[in-house]
Amino acid sequence: MTTKQRTCSHIKADGKICAAVALASKDFCYFHHRDRKRQAEILQALNHRRTSLSQNQRQAVYRYIPNRESLFDDASAALFASLDLPPVEDQASVLVNITSIMRALATQQIEPRVGALLLYALQIASTHINSKSQSIAAQQEAPHDPAV
Ligand SMILES: [Zn+2]
Repeated sequence: MTTKQRTCSHIKADGKICAAVALASKDFCYFHHRDRKRQAEILQALNHRRTSLSQNQRQAVYRYIPNRESLFDDASAALFASLDLPPVEDQASVLVNITSIMRALATQQIEPRVGALLLYALQIASTHINSKSQSIAAQQEAPHDPAV
């Protein structure tokens, strides 16, 4: 007897439904469940920022760094800590990080300059990952020399 596994309910940008297996008692696969949690964290941070600024409580969002003239953006730091972004180790992790940074930039949760630096770092990482995967593919395609 086989039990049919439920599939993810996420509709992708091309209009197709994600075919991955859904997490137990969830509507989405691991990737899309995690993506929705990250999106919810960004919206929660946005609501906190809006509430703090509308109540003129800038100190809840920005704090002065001791002995420096610059402000520390507490809300952005808290947001990025809560997003649990994956380490940059493959193209999928690069895309997850880029998506989260784009959302944070679009909702003005991070400074554009900080976002630009993060995206630049991801570009460098992505180039490194591409050259590494091409190197591995070239090794796998090389003809086998039985004398070696
Ligand atoms: Zn999915």
